[in-house]
Amino acid sequence: MTLADLINGEKAIILKVRGRGAFRKRIIEMGFVVGKQVIVVRNAPLKDPIEYNIMGYEVSLRQSEAALIEVTKDLRNKSKGNHFEGTIELEHSLSLIPHLIDKTINVALVGNPNSGKTTIFNYASHSKEKVGNYGGVTINAKEAKFKHKGYTFILVDLPGTYSITSYTPEELFVRNHLINELPDIILNVVDSSNIERNLYLTTQLVDMDLKVVIALNMWDEFKDKGDEFDYQALAKMIGIPMVPTIGADGKGFGDLFDKIIEVYEDQESIVRHIHINYGKRIELSIRELQKMINISGNEQLTVKLSPRYLSLKLLEGDPEEIQRVKKSCVNAYKILDFAKKESDKIAKLHNETMETVITDAKYGFIEGALRETYHEATKKNKITRSRVIDAIVTDKILSYPIFLFAMWLTFQATFYLGDYPMQWIGLLFEWMGKITNEVLAKSAFRDLISDGIIGGVGGVIVFLPNILILFFFITLMEASGYMARVAFIVDKLMHKIGLHGKSFIPMLMGFGCNVPAIMATRTIENKNDRLVTMLIIPFMSCSARYPVYVLLINAFFKGHRGSILFGIYLFGIFLAGAMAWVFKKTMFKVNTVPFVMELPPYRRPRFASVLKQTWFKGEQYLKKMGTIILLASMIIWTLGYFPTGKKYDVAMLQKTVQINNRFAQKVKQQQSTPKQKAQLEQQKQKLLSILQAETSRLKQEHSMIGRIGKFIEPVIHPLGFDWKMGVSLIAGGAAKEIVVSTMSVLYPIRNTENESLSQRLRKQVYSSGKRKGKPVFTPLVALSFMLFILIYFPCIAVVAAIKNESGTWKWSLFLAFYTTTLAWLVSLITFQAGSLLGF
Ligand code: GDP
Ligand code: MG
Repeated sequence: MTLADLINGEKAIILKVRGRGAFRKRIIEMGFVVGKQVIVVRNAPLKDPIEYNIMGYEVSLRQSEAALIEVTKDLRNKSKGNHFEGTIELEHSLSLIPHLIDKTINVALVGNPNSGKTTIFNYASHSKEKVGNYGGVTINAKEAKFKHKGYTFILVDLPGTYSITSYTPEELFVRNHLINELPDIILNVVDSSNIERNLYLTTQLVDMDLKVVIALNMWDEFKDKGDEFDYQALAKMIGIPMVPTIGADGKGFGDLFDKIIEVYEDQESIVRHIHINYGKRIELSIRELQKMINISGNEQLTVKLSPRYLSLKLLEGDPEEIQRVKKSCVNAYKILDFAKKESDKIAKLHNETMETVITDAKYGFIEGALRETYHEATKKNKITRSRVIDAIVTDKILSYPIFLFAMWLTFQATFYLGDYPMQWIGLLFEWMGKITNEVLAKSAFRDLISDGIIGGVGGVIVFLPNILILFFFITLMEASGYMARVAFIVDKLMHKIGLHGKSFIPMLMGFGCNVPAIMATRTIENKNDRLVTMLIIPFMSCSARYPVYVLLINAFFKGHRGSILFGIYLFGIFLAGAMAWVFKKTMFKVNTVPFVMELPPYRRPRFASVLKQTWFKGEQYLKKMGTIILLASMIIWTLGYFPTGKKYDVAMLQKTVQINNRFAQKVKQQQSTPKQKAQLEQQKQKLLSILQAETSRLKQEHSMIGRIGKFIEPVIHPLGFDWKMGVSLIAGGAAKEIVVSTMSVLYPIRNTENESLSQRLRKQVYSSGKRKGKPVFTPLVALSFMLFILIYFPCIAVVAAIKNESGTWKWSLFLAFYTTTLAWLVSLITFQAGSLLGF
């Protein structure tokens, strides 16, 4: 029977894993190996995928994939760790590259996803110095510096991986980092509440002959289980010191960093150079290969890489290492030939692929080592808290309403909680504008400061509170583990549009910012799926588009703000789905990928760390204000100011004089009473202010930006947009917030009262053309405009990210073109249909 035949709650033992290539590799890394027990936890709401428990982790598989795993319900087949051959001791010391004691220690954080690497990283780097992204590397590897006991630690947070084969870009990245950057110490972060699977990665580090220190993180969760674990004994056996830590509370870090220093200085006696014994036959091949690699002429390679590790990888047929050997070994051909022959022989002997043989040996070693050092508390089939929560949030009936409610709540909260701080910031900028106008003499410079900079940047910065709230909720969902459940419940639906439940997480992240979301597609193994996901992520409304929505919704949809915003976001999701379906049917023909995904246990998010991450993102937003938005506002203002159109000023002056004279005459002729006089004065002021507004308009239209706007107006006229909206859209190509700052520069304050931008928008009327006298903005126009904002060209940063991730400009250009065309069509239909229906 196969895993797919089991019903909820049933247990079975794995007999064989069928299937090939990437699927097989991944599934084995995740712990689906012969002799292990699997429990069926539950089906997703739409029956597929299915959640299993293996090695203490909850992992989801699709039914079709589960059918590839042969199992038996006879629990006597459970593995007894038969492969355990112990370790092989080696003579030479681990310091492969002798170093003078330098007071800087480079530490690389390596470990499974969700083992707590980032938590440790944040806690440590919190103490000092900058946290910056790695330049030139597209994947997120953060670096931080801090001091401990006189040493400078340079900590690098690497992406989480289950292994360091070259199966995903992350794994390849981690491997290349270890090989090329040669960190002094590897800090292997291990989830000690479920240690078995985590140690798989550790065995690979052992193969690589690296100096490793293990952080037994989640020690609190381990303690709760009540198991016994003689970690000192295990540390001795594998020659790697281990230190218990509780990342979330910052406990054990002092000891951990002390230990790192000891190991760095070769003071720690536990550290030994050992190897996992893969059994006689394999060891024989390794020894032969090692000899062949270790000849003179290959030093270029062997100073960086352990020959033993290379030999193993060559036996496994790892394409990356084969390339490496080809490139830098003098006897490459001989080595590869020998490796291939040996590999075939061993595979035949075991009737398994070489990779499986080695993986089994690794798990066999882990199991044996744990049998000697780890004792589970008396079996209690405890129903964990995570199970209870999952029973509700992945329930057949409740799951989707709960998800939609969570999203809706998020948007409501951003409005209602964000309103007040938003007004305060608005008032602050108004006040700054006023002060500037009072302090500085009237000049182009003053106008630049008050209209261009304070107006432009201030128009966007007021949305900071809303954005912080939005990020707060997204971070909360990520940190608690709910995001993974969302991927689980939507997999079947995503499958319908040809994608994978996993694509949904980058899509959700896209609500924050599309750029990291596009980077997050790296967790999607299949190249086509990755590309399709990247191409639809821009339909996820990022926080930069958000100010535009808020502005227009506040101005024109006062009654249903949360619902309208929610609707726009939903429409974006719908479009993403539709486009994915089209892409999969046309350019990227269907090929399904395994849905092997971990469902981490729910963890109570630490309030402080959520706040910190939220603020971190808020800071990035502010930085963007200070740089690109500031620059764009100044450019837009300049384009709108020059050429200044002096002749209009002159004309205005003449007319002002005329008006003044006319009224003065009237007053004289009529011998008016004081009351009449006041009336006349009022009339005069009104005329003058109309004259002034008219002049500003003429000047603006005469300026460069006016000319650009007028030039593109015919294209956007059918969508219900005026030329200023067109200019705002063009400017928004740099970053969507600029749409708002541009609008606040182009629709400036015309009279003495300080009106908010939404008030100004409500008052705009066409001054010429067929629509003369009609309001520029109606709810319909606002809707059409918001849809355009949602769909068209995302922003330069996104286009660049897609270029980086896909490797060519082709897809970036394609994206730029198809989104803008689609936006135009959708807005056209909306506006024209809406107008016909009389909105
Ligand atoms: P990463 O994927 O390895 O970077 O893991 P994270 O640092 O993002 O941590 C995953 C989750 O585990 C977060 O919700 C953390 O708050 C939580 N966490 C980290 N360390 C501990 C710990 O020692 N104990 C407990 N209970 N939770 C922890
Ligand atoms: Mg992390």
